[in-house]
Amino acid sequence: MTGCTGTTENGVLVWGQLPGATMPAQFTAPCGTTISAGAVTNNVLGRNQITSFTKGKPPAIRTGVNWGSSNSFTVSHPAPVHVGVKFWALYIDPLCNLSCVQTNLNNWLSWANAMLSREGAGIVLTASSTGLVTDKTGVANTKPKVRKYKNMKETQAYCGKRPISKLASLIKESNAFNVYIVQTVKDENARGTSCYQYDMAFVAHQSIWGTILHEIGHNLYLYHPDDSAVAPFFNAKNLMWSDSPDRDYLSEGQTFRMHFSQESALVKKFGFRELEKRDCLDEGTDDNKPCPKYEKFIWPDP
Ligand SMILES: [Zn+2]
Repeated sequence: MTGCTGTTENGVLVWGQLPGATMPAQFTAPCGTTISAGAVTNNVLGRNQITSFTKGKPPAIRTGVNWGSSNSFTVSHPAPVHVGVKFWALYIDPLCNLSCVQTNLNNWLSWANAMLSREGAGIVLTASSTGLVTDKTGVANTKPKVRKYKNMKETQAYCGKRPISKLASLIKESNAFNVYIVQTVKDENARGTSCYQYDMAFVAHQSIWGTILHEIGHNLYLYHPDDSAVAPFFNAKNLMWSDSPDRDYLSEGQTFRMHFSQESALVKKFGFRELEKRDCLDEGTDDNKPCPKYEKFIWPDP
């Protein structure tokens, strides 16, 4: 992100009403730790919320704010969320053996964390304590219930609860994003597929780094901007653009959903921010627990 010349990017989005203005009003603050929300009046249920974004930490929410004419509010951000990642190799290309795969995925982890940090996602991905990647090609070659995932034909057929639970019962780690390296997805060797609200994703063995993180983005309940009305606000460099060689930014609306959407794996699977979760279906301002729009940017992105 750009837009801040200091070491920290801070920005707030408040739901309130400036005299004579429409809602919601957005305020950004320069580098610093205390954010002035401005003069916001008309304290109505659901409009007395501050959402704050800062680099390196998850977004913060402060509700029940009693707006005054010159109040200043301090918001506190929780520590970064650490979540494990576990790769399961159901297929290994003879041209890149297990050691080659491990090297690539270790480099991916560094790239992914640098991107998440730069974008203020407040998420740190950590290698599973059992190793970042485990070779399961033997199981994939012998067990039919696993073998059928090696070449994913149809996304829906494998992301339904029942079939995926069979794989989960055989190869899965709890409390981690499980990424299965397969030979092909929809007959392509560099494609991924994922299941919303699950902690499981699939990437074909030649998938680029952006695709791997993109599939985890789906686990965080982020959708393709180019498949919806918000497309004009994004471009192919967004992490969730459906097909891109170079994905490297998030909107603040996306960051917010990662942490607070009740369908995000962070909430639904890993139990973070349980008390602050919300449905994010109503993006308006009359909800008790409003969400920023998906296309909300506080800082411009490429
Ligand atoms: Zn996708």
